[in-house]
Amino acid sequence: MTDDTIAAISTPTGEGGIAIVRVSGPSAFDVADAVFVSKRGRPSTFPSHTIHFGRIREKGNSVDQVMLSVMRAPRTYTTEDLIEINCHGGALTARTILSLCLAHGARLAEPGEFTKRAFLNGRLDLTQAEAVIDLIQAKTSRAHTAAVNALEGHLGRKLGEARDQLISIAAHIEAHIDFPEDDIDTGTRNQWLTGTRDVLAFLERLLATSAEGKILRHGLAITIIGRPNAGKSSLMNALLGEDRAIVTPIAGTTRDLIEEAANIRGIPIRLTDTAGIRKARGTIEELGIHRSHLSAQSSDLVLHVVDTSRPFTPADLRLTGLYTSKPAIQILSKCDLAPRLRLPPSFPRREQIPVSSTRGDGLENLRDRIEGIACAARHVTSEMDSFVNDRQADALRRGIKALTLCESRLTDESTPELVAQELRAGLDAIGEITGKTATEDILEKVFSTFCIGK
Ligand code: GDP
Repeated sequence: MTDDTIAAISTPTGEGGIAIVRVSGPSAFDVADAVFVSKRGRPSTFPSHTIHFGRIREKGNSVDQVMLSVMRAPRTYTTEDLIEINCHGGALTARTILSLCLAHGARLAEPGEFTKRAFLNGRLDLTQAEAVIDLIQAKTSRAHTAAVNALEGHLGRKLGEARDQLISIAAHIEAHIDFPEDDIDTGTRNQWLTGTRDVLAFLERLLATSAEGKILRHGLAITIIGRPNAGKSSLMNALLGEDRAIVTPIAGTTRDLIEEAANIRGIPIRLTDTAGIRKARGTIEELGIHRSHLSAQSSDLVLHVVDTSRPFTPADLRLTGLYTSKPAIQILSKCDLAPRLRLPPSFPRREQIPVSSTRGDGLENLRDRIEGIACAARHVTSEMDSFVNDRQADALRRGIKALTLCESRLTDESTPELVAQELRAGLDAIGEITGKTATEDILEKVFSTFCIGK
């Protein structure tokens, strides 16, 4: 348990109906007694898990009318004494109340410190703490469901089972190290091998979820390329539909590339339209191609829009060079018009989908394919309901490496000492994911990505 008391504003800045100031730690009730007044007495006399109307006072003057929630340890978010002051929103009120709390003995919380305390006090494991950020940042229902599952502890539980399995093998092996006169029979060795392989297979299935996890967290990046007037902007608008989001010009390339966020079948999408390039840069086609090239290289999928209502030009052939090593779909656009395009045999064909952005033909088909590409990993991992992040994937890779070595040492009849060594490395890697064996560096890295007040 920590002995200091922390405070922060837990709601975002800006104007809103209410803002919440949160105070956690052994002196939370002293702070509340000092700043809050009501007809019903002092917060330290209130029963746990109750909420009370009153005023925040500073030197006898009322700062705001508020609702105060009181929650006593250990049934709280941090497992410590916790109070929450629901005040009016806006720039000044919450800041004034926070300052008052700080003046009466609390200190300003670091980013993620409330959740960090929940972790350190054993209420959450590290996968659950990380799920809190995923939940806050989820942009689609699919990402949201995965985060809730992890927050419920599904991921941590499965890893805990794998860890227990390895611990029991390790215990057997240690026993053999302590009593070397007992020979290890083949049956025992095979049991260890089967157990290790079980865990190894599980870790590999879990690692396979990282591709979809990346997409759910950061969005699937799609770049639309094509000749001027091929129908790129129309396709982008048709795909965005009702989901049209904020237009954010990509830094440094103002107006050349337009990025918009969309939600296709629960998958967050970042669509980049290269349509502005020629229009903004006049005839400097080389520069345009270069920018398209960079965008195509950094995206997960390229949509090459080829106008079927015009005769073929070499420009389209050149554009295919932008995605030779990338997943790509060739959109045969304007399929509602009379076809005039004949692709030469030299044109490198990829999967093609005829689309009419004006009539809507082919759009559902395209959405199906985008979903298929985003969820390619899902078919192998249908038993998993949450997706590992980069940190977890990194630890999984180390765990897999150690257990693969352990497996080969078991088969090549190495000494139990050598087997035990790899097993321990595997255990450490799994423990790092749930936080059981996480170092201060790892915790620092995880919680620094949180905002203050969470
Ligand atoms: P961009 O320069 O590649 O972004 O092309 P635009 O999306 O601006 O489209 C160029 C022209 O083609 C516009 O006049 C559009 O209205 C037209 N257009 C785009 N898609 C279609 C389509 O599916 N069918 C028809 N008939 N016209 C289209």
